[in-house]
Amino acid sequence: MARYTEAVCRQCRREGLKLYLKGERCYTEKCGVDRRAYPPGQHGQGRRGKQSEYGLQLREKQKARRVYGVLESQFRKYFKEADRRKGITGENLLQILESRMDNVVFRLGLALSRPEARQLVRHGHFAVNGQKVSIPSFQVRPGDVITVRENSRDKGRFKDVAELMRTHGTVDWLEVDRENLTGKVVRLPNREEIDIPITEHLIVELYSR
Ligand code: SF4
Repeated sequence: MARYTEAVCRQCRREGLKLYLKGERCYTEKCGVDRRAYPPGQHGQGRRGKQSEYGLQLREKQKARRVYGVLESQFRKYFKEADRRKGITGENLLQILESRMDNVVFRLGLALSRPEARQLVRHGHFAVNGQKVSIPSFQVRPGDVITVRENSRDKGRFKDVAELMRTHGTVDWLEVDRENLTGKVVRLPNREEIDIPITEHLIVELYSR
């Protein structure tokens, strides 16, 4: 399966933003963005010229892809689907990205980062409405109940998860049941509830060229 191969901290430094791709390290002083707050590479500390409109649009799209760990082809499909739906295309796009199974597992506090959530989903640790789901891009819907599967509950990874769920901030559109390692999608998030610093209309403009 295709995947990013660039060192993960470089991705954050390129965007000038913490993308929280490395789990625990992201919450410590070892974070690459905190230690070197300039873009990676030989000219990273040099002056950057004024970016063109196209450059800004491209940067914004790359940022969104990196936050959610989505490759270009899939991202384009999401955009087409967002454009097809009623409402504001940019907001629809963010809603589709937020509805990914790996993102929801991360938002529920069942993983420290989206990459970790993706791996846990792939390893088959979760069920949606009682059915095993091991596809990170699976789209959840309002009313869906996400649980840690019975066989996975005793595993070391999930022993301390109730504590992790407690320390991890929760979002209003998901209902968390820490005792039962379960979460419910109450509704899909609205724009104000998506805390990612992305200017989505730039992405819409890029794909509308
Ligand atoms: Fe990004 Fe985490 Fe690396 Fe910091 S530690 S630069 S947030 S991946």
